Amino acid sequence: MTDADGPRDATAATQALQRAVRETLPFHDTQDFEDAARGRVAALPEVEITNAQARVVWSLRDYPFLAGEETPPTVNPSLWRQARLNMHHGLYQVTERVYQVRGFDISNMTIIEGERGVIVIDPLISAEVARAAFDLYRAHRGDRPVTAMIYTHSHTDHYGGVRGVLDEARVATGEVPVVAPARFMEEVVSEAVLAGTAMVRRGQFQFGPTLPKGPRGQVDAGLGKTTSRGTVTLIPPTLTIAEPLETHRIDGVEIVFQLTPETEAPAEMHMYYPALRALNLAENATHNLHNLYPIRGAQVRDANAWAKYIDEARDRFGRATDVAFAQHHWPVWGTGRVQEFLAAQRDLYKFLHDQTVRLMNHGFKPAEIAERLALPRGLASTWHVRGYYGTLSHNSKSVYQRYLGWYDANPANLNPLPPVERGRKYVEYMGGADAVLARAREDFARGEYRFVAEATSHVVFADPGNVDARRLGADALEQMGYAAESAIWRNAYLQGALELRGGRPATSGRAPVSPDVVRAMSLDLFFGYLAARLDGERAEGVGFVLSWVFPDLGRRYVLTLQNCALTYLADRDPERADATITLDRPVLDRLVLRELTIEAALAQGVAAIAGDPAPVIRLFHLLDDFPLLFDVIEPRR
Ligand SMILES: [Zn+2]
Repeated sequence: MTDADGPRDATAATQALQRAVRETLPFHDTQDFEDAARGRVAALPEVEITNAQARVVWSLRDYPFLAGEETPPTVNPSLWRQARLNMHHGLYQVTERVYQVRGFDISNMTIIEGERGVIVIDPLISAEVARAAFDLYRAHRGDRPVTAMIYTHSHTDHYGGVRGVLDEARVATGEVPVVAPARFMEEVVSEAVLAGTAMVRRGQFQFGPTLPKGPRGQVDAGLGKTTSRGTVTLIPPTLTIAEPLETHRIDGVEIVFQLTPETEAPAEMHMYYPALRALNLAENATHNLHNLYPIRGAQVRDANAWAKYIDEARDRFGRATDVAFAQHHWPVWGTGRVQEFLAAQRDLYKFLHDQTVRLMNHGFKPAEIAERLALPRGLASTWHVRGYYGTLSHNSKSVYQRYLGWYDANPANLNPLPPVERGRKYVEYMGGADAVLARAREDFARGEYRFVAEATSHVVFADPGNVDARRLGADALEQMGYAAESAIWRNAYLQGALELRGGRPATSGRAPVSPDVVRAMSLDLFFGYLAARLDGERAEGVGFVLSWVFPDLGRRYVLTLQNCALTYLADRDPERADATITLDRPVLDRLVLRELTIEAALAQGVAAIAGDPAPVIRLFHLLDDFPLLFDVIEPRR
């Protein structure tokens, strides 16, 4: 044992679990290591990328401990294997004219060489790492210009670095198209803006960007190492793929786009390149069981659609495919292996969906279904469907949620007490905190970590100052983290342990809402974002109607505040308005990003108000700002 407030050793119970993994999984099958290394053109001697202020935004330097083949007792051997596979980094040739830069972020940048330059697919999370990745490509393949940018889907790790490789001026002139699936912008805003702050904080638990790296800390994120921490940018798409299948010739490369809505992302698409006999599966078929619900929080995804689109891709393109790859992990080569790979991925999501639905119709509750489901034998021994990212457990609960919601139909669970009050009652019923801890210590000794974590959490919510409860809770979470095959479960457990021992971290690792994303929003989305920032408590009793005029866009909006709700209608003249505010859209962006106050805008003459200025000023003062680091494992301060 180390000191009381640091990470501990794996217990005998945890080590027994690790041994069972070693004995049951096919560690002799090392094909993935060959594939992950195949086609490497070049790599940086050391991957560490900094921003303009010399702050490290991405580094693989913290992972030398993964060089060893021998798994330490504090890591699940299956996850250790995946964590080592995800250490492969550099520029790789996938096939003729197709390259990938891997290991420069959690996602891959794919580069296709066209007639005049290169098509860049998915420019990672942040501009700094995207630039470094593209520089690596150009250092070895020549200084080719970007002739098109493609975003496969609406998640930040597939668009955020765009300004690192593409100058917006070339998009504005129409020289470089930016291609994305239908509903891309709406979904970006829904995920990255409306719920953005909450997701970034919760994402710390999923990806562990601020966890110490090491055999007792963060080792991987399943899909890749972790998330980069540079500048998130966005250039909105100029060409939207709207039909189920669309073929375009871009820079001389024929691309068949297959829309796959409501799969891994609400807006997503596959691509098939007929001349290259190559299939890009975006993020729908990667080397792990993915998340139907990422624990950072998101809308639940449709496992049934996911399976269907994989099957369609396999059926339509699989027979004429020599290599399949995705925007994470490494490719699969050979038509036969591609077919097999896609069939297993398809079956994985279909099994999860159908069996959850079946059990749910028998009346099983989410936790019971999660406990009961196990992969069929044929899938269980297949590395690429293992739960390094999603798990059968939380994914089956998500299928339930998609159909039946959060409520398990037991009225005792319909309106339970909130965490603090519930914690107090539990502790009181169980005979006080000391009695709870005495029982919890006995359970800990027996390896019953799940209930120890739950019971001690009640004590912490009743009394966050109970150091013994915090320590024991941390110890229990930590053992579950050590045993977890899922990297994101491991990260969540270890982040929880870290915060129980030492409180909230000082930094979140990433800014919540990118100014680029705010600027890229349509006015409708923009007013939606504004409405979700209205402080309803302070808006009590306030009411007004504001008419907005945007001369630069030729648009008008009517905004109504009443009953603490902000509603808006586009292109209407109100019957009665308290004020009319006239301003160009960029001024509105600066107001909402708090780069400019409404008073200053009026003084500078970049905004004008006809009628009563008071409600306009009031509106901006009623907008809420969100703290980045809220409490998770203990009561809100
Ligand atoms: Zn991704």
